[in-house]
Amino acid sequence: MTRYVLIAFLLIVGLFSPAAQGELLSVQISGGTEKIDSFVEKDVLYFSMSQLAELFGDRVTWEEIGLSIAYQSAASKTLFFIDSPFLRMGDSVRNMVYPVIIRNGELYLPAETFMPVLNRIRPEKVSWDAHRKTIRVDSEWYNVTDLAFSPKANGLLIEIFVSGIKDYEIFQSEGNWLNITIPNGTVNRRQLLSRRDKEFLLDMNVLQNSGSAQVSLRLRRKIDKMTHRLQTDPDRIQISLIDSLVTPITTSEMKKVGPDDLIDRIIIDPGHGGSDYGAIGHNGTREKEVVLDIAKRLAKIIRKDKVFSAVLTREKDEHLSLAERTRIANEEKGDIFISIHANASVKRSARGFQVFFLAPAKNDSARAVAQLENATFLAELGSQPDSQYDDLSHILSDMIQTEFQAESADLAAMIERDFRRKVNSTENRGIDQAGFYVLNGVYMPSVLVETAFITNRADEQLLNSKDFREEVALAIYEGLKRFKAKYENK
Ligand SMILES: [Zn+2]
Repeated sequence: MTRYVLIAFLLIVGLFSPAAQGELLSVQISGGTEKIDSFVEKDVLYFSMSQLAELFGDRVTWEEIGLSIAYQSAASKTLFFIDSPFLRMGDSVRNMVYPVIIRNGELYLPAETFMPVLNRIRPEKVSWDAHRKTIRVDSEWYNVTDLAFSPKANGLLIEIFVSGIKDYEIFQSEGNWLNITIPNGTVNRRQLLSRRDKEFLLDMNVLQNSGSAQVSLRLRRKIDKMTHRLQTDPDRIQISLIDSLVTPITTSEMKKVGPDDLIDRIIIDPGHGGSDYGAIGHNGTREKEVVLDIAKRLAKIIRKDKVFSAVLTREKDEHLSLAERTRIANEEKGDIFISIHANASVKRSARGFQVFFLAPAKNDSARAVAQLENATFLAELGSQPDSQYDDLSHILSDMIQTEFQAESADLAAMIERDFRRKVNSTENRGIDQAGFYVLNGVYMPSVLVETAFITNRADEQLLNSKDFREEVALAIYEGLKRFKAKYENK
């Protein structure tokens, strides 16, 4: 097989480049075409690896004078030996059939036989078109694109982002390795390796095999209880490593929380508090104060009407941990959870209200909002040793709350609709989804309301006005009644 490719290659080279010297070879990269030096020697086409490395932003250096040359990319180092066809990557040695050549102080490599090696070194899909004498570097080619670790109160969530993948295999091996094989996977090694996080991993390997991709993670934590599945929107393999010390929620217990026949208890969560100021406006308005006032107004409306009862996660300016917020919600057996916030952006022109529900973010702006709101909780989780997570036994046995996703999306839409009707003083940014930690811990339909942008001058002024705060509270309340009317009779 290789021999036929080689013969075909030699024929092509023979036909199209009759031993020409100093030709240019095309490199298609980042949507453009670049030229690098090449030449044919003994019917083999060589190209300048030194120039290609420059295009990649990588480096070719002399390792020891006259002996070996190193090609250093972000993820790996490859050693070449002058006049030798062998190269070394880590512990493995490969044969390029033809020796490397040094000319004018530059490293030249045989195009046809080196390209499969380059394809493994570089994170992009690299292919060689012998016909057009073109190296194609395609960064959009992958279907295994990224990796993420999310610490949860009861364990660790690992996500491998894929596209168009139907199948995967997962197995454990000695030394706390977790191996995920993805048939027909083409993996963006650089991207995945960049997610190597010492907090969760002792070691990590990402392999591109000819028919599959393999991701191997050597975890810090013991793999105890594990669940995994293929999720969509975005496509990803979701692996939940669950702490066994957390008391499993039994079926009978589960019936006590979440919506029963009645939707009558609302948990209102004013974001931030105490040392966590939340976002701060240009005139010094503090998110933690504004949202507490709106939350209190909402509670007042609810208590006056007696359709629902209301519980606030905090009634004063105090710091609450993620665990405390979600414990209150679950222990108080809420039917709906509403976290109230004010948004922030480096773009001062950004303004308006927006209602979020819990699901993986689909766009950068939603992801940014979740990052903003998760920041304090992340710091909190990061500062605690593993053992302290075990106390948080209120969190349920699975990690991503998907049970009430449809209801939560519906609730978000209903609240947004009443915002649209009642709040005309600022923009309507609609509903969106993102991964908010605080929503993930509560076992009931839940939304996070970004009332307005504290970083926008006009919005900041609104947030400081009693009328706007009352309007916002009323809009949320109308949405709650709408939700009750729809779901209680089901
Ligand atoms: Zn906030």
